[in-house]
Amino acid sequence: MGRVGFAAAAACAVAACAVAAALVGRRVRARRRWWRAVEVVGEFEEGCATPLGRLRQVVDALVVEMHAGLASDGGSKLKMLLTFIDTLPDGSEEGIYYALDLGGTNFRVLRVQLGGKGSMILSHKVESQPLPEELKSGTSEILFDYIASTLKNFVEREEDDSQQKTDERRALGFTFSFPVRQTSVSSGFLIKWTKGFSIEDAVGKDIARGLEEAMTTKGLNMRVAALFALTLRGERPLVNDTVGTLALGHYYDQDTVAAVIIGTGTNACYIERTDAIIKCQGLLTNSGGMGFEKMISGMYLGEVVRRVLQKMAQESDLFGDATQNLSVPFSLSTPIMAAMHEDDSPDLERVRQIMEQNFQMPHVPLKTRRLIIRVCDIVTRRAARLAAAGIVGILKKIGRDGSGRSRSKSQRTSVAIEGGLYTGYSNFRDYLNEAVVEILGEEVARNVILRVSEDGSGIGAALLAAAHSLDR
Ligand code: ADP
Ligand code: MG
Repeated sequence: MGRVGFAAAAACAVAACAVAAALVGRRVRARRRWWRAVEVVGEFEEGCATPLGRLRQVVDALVVEMHAGLASDGGSKLKMLLTFIDTLPDGSEEGIYYALDLGGTNFRVLRVQLGGKGSMILSHKVESQPLPEELKSGTSEILFDYIASTLKNFVEREEDDSQQKTDERRALGFTFSFPVRQTSVSSGFLIKWTKGFSIEDAVGKDIARGLEEAMTTKGLNMRVAALFALTLRGERPLVNDTVGTLALGHYYDQDTVAAVIIGTGTNACYIERTDAIIKCQGLLTNSGGMGFEKMISGMYLGEVVRRVLQKMAQESDLFGDATQNLSVPFSLSTPIMAAMHEDDSPDLERVRQIMEQNFQMPHVPLKTRRLIIRVCDIVTRRAARLAAAGIVGILKKIGRDGSGRSRSKSQRTSVAIEGGLYTGYSNFRDYLNEAVVEILGEEVARNVILRVSEDGSGIGAALLAAAHSLDR
């Protein structure tokens, strides 16, 4: 090789080395960024750990708070609201009943036909629709008008289709799943809105009356005789979704002592001895302090995952230029998060699709998709285990957790559970069920039945309307 040729070869070699060095440098940086993302997840996982010891602390803390909440209003971070339900349905109820169920996300109208002892629920119909977003922040008049119109249309359709004679009077139950100070079984004053609602004029007002007025207005229409009759018979129980779910549980299984909602929000109720309720009920004020609910409820889980992904992206550049697409609050809903978590395809195609559709990230690599699933798993597992501790807390409060001298080790205990997060998300359900056994121990857990009460909050309200009807 001549001089020139040698120099050219040397220059090529140098250039090749420079390219190789640049490539290696980039790979090292990329690897460092990747490991930073993994580290973020690891730190988050550590913070979310729920070992058995910690769950037991949650159980005990909850029992203490429940005692305090029963002793005085504002004495606890837990709102212990009384419901004045003294009759739970037992299967003997008969007739046709309607119910409304206003949860956090969906609005349902229901019709239930009860056959009495031995035949139980002959048929039930549920119409569910997402509550239009704008109704959550308008006025109470607009909200109740919408509810009454939807009910009116439903009743008219149902009574037209029905073989039954239409002038029969119907009783109505109303499930209103927000904190309410009840003064009787059929009246209650809104304490404050939760779950993203903000209809200011309704706070402090009697919710049952608001509905009543809207229904009366609709009743002026002569064609809605059936609806008008709804206002005429029996008490119209105003209940919380937990109480509705308890009622449905109790209808099927009289060992049901508690009910739990794990949907948009988280809440529970249980049957308490009257003599354990020391306080005279007054208005509870308790702003903030909902951390426990935020770690558990459907309204928040997807958002927690989004925030972790955003942090990973910011600290590691995991998602490149698309990082900003992760910055919109509540843009990852819990059902979408659950769909990623439950993607069992080998190449996690569903995760890829969701990241593309929701965050305009078409090329998320497989190993990143695996990391995303790990985040979903951490968030869901913590939520489900804390919810399980909450359930055991209630059982402990009423002496059904197998501790102490009570005979509760062998006493059959049923808990009714409702809410989209529990019924629709099997990983969540599995983690929760597993943790209840872990906390209670297998022997006690054998006698504790967790029963899914699908549509319990609504059907239960209809059952309570039946149980409270005058001519029962
Ligand atoms: P509401 O609170 O209106 O009564 P639901 O009990 O039906 O509503 O719960 C709806 C909530 O449950 C949704 O907002 C969502 O957070 C959660 N959810 C519903 N379906 C699923 C699912 N398949 N996976 C995970 N979460 C779900
Ligand atoms: Mg509900």
